[in-house]
Amino acid sequence: MTYAVAAPAVHTLTVAGRDERFPVNRIFCVGRNYAAHAREMGKDPDREPPFYFMKPAQAAVDAAQAVTIPYPPRTSNFHHEIELVLAIGRGGADIAAADALDHIYGYAVGLDMTRRDLQLEARDKGRPWEFGKSFAASAPIGAVHRVQDVGHPRDAAITLTVNGQPRQSSDIAKLIWSVSECIAVLSQYETLEPGDLIMTGTPEGVNAVVRGDVLIGAIEGLGEISVTVAS
Ligand code: MN
Repeated sequence: MTYAVAAPAVHTLTVAGRDERFPVNRIFCVGRNYAAHAREMGKDPDREPPFYFMKPAQAAVDAAQAVTIPYPPRTSNFHHEIELVLAIGRGGADIAAADALDHIYGYAVGLDMTRRDLQLEARDKGRPWEFGKSFAASAPIGAVHRVQDVGHPRDAAITLTVNGQPRQSSDIAKLIWSVSECIAVLSQYETLEPGDLIMTGTPEGVNAVVRGDVLIGAIEGLGEISVTVAS
């Protein structure tokens, strides 16, 4: 095979305890999936169907080791969102919630980094969220822990500190839409493929970071990630 221009690299994540790597296909993100975060964003938490947005595979950054990400351009309100990430191992369409866990290869700790000023401007003008959400290095993600090693976490503390100070602290048991429901609903709209990631939403406490800040995110049983914003 010869390409007309240089072919884009496959972005991959570390698999905990393994040599093979997890190739990132698409990154789906669930919006407002913890009630307290929905309220802090000025929305009523409810059981309306979950909604999704996407980041490109190029947004993924392997954060199995401590990493540094750039401060992105065109923002002055760069926010952290700590999230549980699902790594899809088996694809499918119209997946029943009862079968959804069988499609998961593993779980990871991730950050949905957000240019909040651009996201809110887009939201308020009825425009797409891409400039707020879908940019290079906006998804640092830790090692993928295989289901066969860690099972399916149902309740686990999810936390984020910035420079050692607590910012976000909740439990994944507080997800409005469960891991299974997130997969089932998404698969009604898009056939899932191996390598897809689903970021399941962030709890309350989102806030801005500045150059030089050190973010430590953790989910009980899935380890922690250390992400520094370049100075
Ligand atoms: Mn998010």
